[in-house]
Amino acid sequence: MSGVNLQGVVKRFGEVQVIHGVDLTIEDGEFCVFVGPSGCGKSTLLRMVAGLEETTSGRIHIGTRDVTREDPAERGVAMVFQTYALYPHMTVAENMGFGLKMTGHPKAEVAAKVREASRILKLDDYLARKPKALSGGQRQRVAIGRAIVRGPEVFLFDEPLSNLDAELRVEMRVEIARLHREIGATMIYVTHDQVEAMTLASKIVVLRAGRVEQVGKPLELYHNPDNRFVAGFIGSPA
Ligand code: ADP
Ligand code: MG
Repeated sequence: MSGVNLQGVVKRFGEVQVIHGVDLTIEDGEFCVFVGPSGCGKSTLLRMVAGLEETTSGRIHIGTRDVTREDPAERGVAMVFQTYALYPHMTVAENMGFGLKMTGHPKAEVAAKVREASRILKLDDYLARKPKALSGGQRQRVAIGRAIVRGPEVFLFDEPLSNLDAELRVEMRVEIARLHREIGATMIYVTHDQVEAMTLASKIVVLRAGRVEQVGKPLELYHNPDNRFVAGFIGSPA
């Protein structure tokens, strides 16, 4: 069981409050997409789930564990960012295995996990290459591979495809959907792309100025947006 639950989650940066008491339940194995305008708090919420940002008040649970004050490394989450920050001097295989290697896992286990991730992401032929010899899409696959290798209960994606051109975005979107089907882990995915949201999500959370505006299945929101704001993001044009 590794759903994610947020109860009354608040975030303040100094005097400025940017998240105003978010309550949210994401079921085990769900693909939950956060949408909302720039600056509404999508990344901040994700970073609080990851433990990269302290939660000012409220509770965050992963499965039955209260992780609110846990270190990022203990939470069983892995995050994929828009900029993939691969180590330029390491091969694809080394990049993917680095996290596990550093936490003392045996070489054979790391190698097996890297092989499995490269199979899922179709990177088998690229394992010996350095990042500079890869396309943008392949680099983002390696970044996703790095997350898979760690075997997280929850994957967090912060606009992972925004830096890719339109054609690659479509290809990677299909890959991410396949990854979710194959691994079945809980995923939280931030995007400003309506098509990504509609096609990937089992649940969409519309955020506005640090609050949840509406939550629902993609078609529910599409056909029954609560207001013009939600309609503007994902509602039908009617
Ligand atoms: P989004 O990802 O939806 O574009 P963010 O979560 O990045 O939004 O930001 C939400 C709000 O919090 C914005 O107003 C942003 O300026 C502010 N913010 C984010 N990080 C910090 C920080 N480290 N210090 C101060 N303010 C921040
Ligand atoms: Mg952001």
